[in-house]
Amino acid sequence: MKTDGSRTSESKAAEGARKSAARRTRETVIKGIAIAPGVAIGAVFDTSEVQAEAPRRTVDAGKVESERQRLAAAVAASRKQVSKLKARLGVLPEEAQEELEPLLDAYAMMLGDSRLIRGARRRIGDELLAAETAVQDEAEAIATIILAAKDDDKAGLRRRAGEVREIARRLTRNLTATPFRSLKGVPAGAILVAEELTPADAALLDPTRIAGVATEEGGADGHTAIMLRALGIPSVLACPGLTEAAARGDQAVLDGGLGTIVLRPGQAALETGRDALAAYAKEKARLAKLRRLPAVTLDGEEVELQANLEIPAELPLIAQAGAQGIGLLRTEFLFMNREDLPDEEAQIAAYTQVVEALAGDTVTIRVLDWGGEKDMEALAEGIGPFHAGPNPALGLRGIRMLLKRPELLEAQFAAILRVAGADTAQGQIRILLPMVTVPAEVKQAREIYERVQRRLRRKGVALPDKPPLLGAMIETPGAALAADAIALEADFFAIGTNDLAMYTLAVDRAEAEVAHLYDPLHPAVLRLVQFATEAALRLRMPVSVCGEMAGNPRLVPLLLGLGIRALSMNASAIPRVKQMVRSLKIDDCARFARRVMEQSDPQRIQELVMGFEAG
Ligand code: PEP
Ligand code: MG
Repeated sequence: MKTDGSRTSESKAAEGARKSAARRTRETVIKGIAIAPGVAIGAVFDTSEVQAEAPRRTVDAGKVESERQRLAAAVAASRKQVSKLKARLGVLPEEAQEELEPLLDAYAMMLGDSRLIRGARRRIGDELLAAETAVQDEAEAIATIILAAKDDDKAGLRRRAGEVREIARRLTRNLTATPFRSLKGVPAGAILVAEELTPADAALLDPTRIAGVATEEGGADGHTAIMLRALGIPSVLACPGLTEAAARGDQAVLDGGLGTIVLRPGQAALETGRDALAAYAKEKARLAKLRRLPAVTLDGEEVELQANLEIPAELPLIAQAGAQGIGLLRTEFLFMNREDLPDEEAQIAAYTQVVEALAGDTVTIRVLDWGGEKDMEALAEGIGPFHAGPNPALGLRGIRMLLKRPELLEAQFAAILRVAGADTAQGQIRILLPMVTVPAEVKQAREIYERVQRRLRRKGVALPDKPPLLGAMIETPGAALAADAIALEADFFAIGTNDLAMYTLAVDRAEAEVAHLYDPLHPAVLRLVQFATEAALRLRMPVSVCGEMAGNPRLVPLLLGLGIRALSMNASAIPRVKQMVRSLKIDDCARFARRVMEQSDPQRIQELVMGFEAG
């Protein structure tokens, strides 16, 4: 039986699948982007094989149209995913391209006007089934017919039935939009392999169970990457051809520092992996000894090394790393993986936990930065329809969204102020505004902030003697170039180089396709960092860097040379950065920065930065 499409493309797909299966028995090395250091050796757990949780469901006759629309949306999303996979085939060796292309074409065809989609649509109307149930039933019916066909090539029949089920699984995952909630059963020590992981998915990973993560999509400084670094899970993203090459249960060696995953390693690769694992553990133990030493340069200049915090689970890591406070608490975690908005009490509990754990050290709480890749159901449900626009990264993100829905900002300010009012928290908290582009946004936010203070005072709530400082993220070119004007409204700056690089270079920080163009060392980005830093220093206003740049020891000489004295990074990066700080002299850094800033070629800047030798 033929599910769809022409015989030619079907036999090509069969040939591709056969070759692919053969490839799945060989050692395969895939190079991606090195995201979080560490080595993992374990069995692959491929999430694309996970059956999304979709209990059988029927719907009322009045819901048929909306179910069909849900199905259409899931088909569109699935088609987009498959065509993205196809677009990236070009980076694979020719042999692998030949194997995968027909297979992906077959998938794309099944997501067109196919029997599967037509049948599912019909079942929604005829049998009043929910879209997920209709897809599953139709896929099973097609698979049963395929398997019963009179054909000697039984393996071929099983493969074709498998393809139909594979597409049904993809559709179901997209329909339920909760692929990773079903990951509770991942065996301990597994290496998670996925096409794509959202930041909210990554937040659910348990670092004590998952040894490593590799995905086909993703970029170096996207929020998924940041979350994985925060959790300290060795990770490699943007691995072309990964999901087709890997099968559940395959052994793999993943090196998050090198950015490689070796599937079905031979003896030599396995031994190299074991050596790397031992070397990494030794290095970690050595760095741990730096914990109590101060972050001071050889000529006595103190540098503040703070931690970024994504989820409270990281708190123990922060203590272990010897961070001097939190330079960026991303509060998005409070809004992730839930369907309603957290109320003031829930926020108070979360902030109190962090503030108490930091025992007097600074905690810089950034108010909600919704938008872009950080799409959150809680907001969609909690504040009603909210159109992200055709370019979510350029739409209502960060402070723009909060000023449009001031009730969200008010609740967050109120919760923070209540926590800051506790006797033990005096002077400990600072507040940060995300995605500022014009001074008026800081001004408007401050008016709301003062209004909330007046309201709380009227209610007799204990407030701190001095309210927490209100700072601005400098993470858009507009903010960086208007830094002198924004400095007149804000109490401090935190330079977010992740978004600054993204918006300056027009390169999505989470997109594998353009990852090669994402370069925080591009002279345009560095000039903006320099301009914003100097604007702050002229006013003697505190300024820090809290993008991923801050956690890269190789970039420390340049940042110190530009005048930065506070760096906030994922906790596990602190020891290496401290080691670098302790080997530097400020004069050398300043001279080095001047040399770098004279360059206009990003490649030359890379070479200079990588070649920097202290002393
Ligand atoms: C940044 O953009 O550099 C930043 C620190 O904010 P986030 O990564 O949360 O967008
Ligand atoms: Mg940002």
